[in-house]
Amino acid sequence: MKQINIDEYYSFGCTCCGDCCSGNMKIHINLFDLFKIAVRLGFSSTGTLFSANLIKLVQGQNGAWIPIINFKKKPFPFCPWLINEQGDDDVLRGFCSLHPHDKPLVCKMAPVGRVADLTEGTESYILTAPTENCPGMVVCEENRLSVMKKELRQELDFELRFFAILEKMEGMPQESYKKLYLLDCAVPFEKQLKDLESAYEI
Ligand code: SF4
Ligand code: SF4
Repeated sequence: MKQINIDEYYSFGCTCCGDCCSGNMKIHINLFDLFKIAVRLGFSSTGTLFSANLIKLVQGQNGAWIPIINFKKKPFPFCPWLINEQGDDDVLRGFCSLHPHDKPLVCKMAPVGRVADLTEGTESYILTAPTENCPGMVVCEENRLSVMKKELRQELDFELRFFAILEKMEGMPQESYKKLYLLDCAVPFEKQLKDLESAYEI
């Protein structure tokens, strides 16, 4: 899929077609996403997201186990938080039941992707179509990267710190990752993140 570096302005307008919330999409979840979704659903621990089969682990870069949304399989693959509604115009639209605050960062940012280099301490942002035929990519709506980064400042920071923990965990067994993803919903997220950073000497 074609990727374009973004400096500031980019053109995009989601039409809520729902394509990127169904099919063979792999939606990666970060540590704070797990926490906020579990809190939203009234769970006492993020572990319930796994036992309820809403989230599963897949092995990604450098052998790290990463959580992804476990799409429902029938009648077709779709995200468990996708809601389809037929409007008065008879068009079927897809909405996210976690919108706007509790959906994963990657969904909030789409079609913007983040490329972070922890070694160099640099990052860049790219425009990448969520699906091959995403109709939002041809909608002429002006968006600003600086506005998005300001709105998502805390979540972007949490994600970078999550990446730093993953880097430290390279080569560890799956059990260690399962432990990492077990958060207590009654304890503030940042406190748990700081405890993990101490444990991994970051
Ligand atoms: S495929 Fe594009 S237009 Fe459709 S819901 Fe996803 S981001 Fe929006
Ligand atoms: S969490 Fe929401 S935006 Fe993300 S894939 Fe699921 S329904 Fe779509």
